[in-house]
Amino acid sequence: IIRFDKVEKRFGDLTVLNKLDFSVKRGEKVSIIGPSGSGKSTVLRILMTLEGIDGGSVTVDGEPLWHENSGDGSLKPASEKHLRKMRGKLGMVFQHFNLFPHMSVLRNITEAPVKVLGLSKAEARQRGEELLELVGLADQAQKFPSQLSGGQKQRVGIARALAMRPSILLFDEPTSALDPELVGEVLNVIGKLADEHDLTMLLVTHEMRFAREISDRVCFFDRGKIREEGTPEELFTDPSEDRTREFLSAVL
Ligand code: ATP
Ligand code: MG
Repeated sequence: IIRFDKVEKRFGDLTVLNKLDFSVKRGEKVSIIGPSGSGKSTVLRILMTLEGIDGGSVTVDGEPLWHENSGDGSLKPASEKHLRKMRGKLGMVFQHFNLFPHMSVLRNITEAPVKVLGLSKAEARQRGEELLELVGLADQAQKFPSQLSGGQKQRVGIARALAMRPSILLFDEPTSALDPELVGEVLNVIGKLADEHDLTMLLVTHEMRFAREISDRVCFFDRGKIREEGTPEELFTDPSEDRTREFLSAVL
């Protein structure tokens, strides 16, 4: 459902993705681990088309996000209409929640379905309430983000992403801004979603134990490439690369 083919991404002189080949199948739960600066967030930002690419190709559901300019070989984004359709397949949960501070919890969740999907307010509200139930916040619908704990905010962030009915859910270190005692409640919700057969999940995380529990596959990123990938068992118990072993012994 996701394919990166020899993707290059540079910021000035810095090469962030170095001919990256990476793919995710429909329904697969994949974790990305790796050192700071290795390009993990960049991969998610490219999928959300928040960043462009300098070479290679990225496809979602077999459809490219960028097209080669026939003239000079440079890459230009697909049409705005096409990108909107592609973005609709993806939902993203951010490290710092990114909730709208001036909107109630429920409105944070219903705003985009009404504006973008064209749902009626009543439909969006009903769906929003179901999602709040799912993330264990049914009683917080009328609060504002500033009145919530970090763990609650992040659960709203997850409900908001789900409200757009994405087939692919991206998480960028969803628990790394949380106090340790709040991490569990967010991981519980993500774990619940991982049981959903049809949902494709791509999770950047430092929570190694959790990655091990929920992932079908774990990818170790190092300097803009996948250095090693495999089942959680393979990667965590018997990594074949020294670099992976070094990283794991530093974080475990
Ligand atoms: P972390 O674990 O710290 O979140 P990461 O693997 O997510 O790291 P990225 O955020 O993908 O790393 O960034 C990869 C590299 O690209 C870093 O060196 C970062 O400083 C650089 N970078 C990211 N975004 C930009 C930008 N907009 N302009 C310039 N450099 C950037
Ligand atoms: Mg990052």
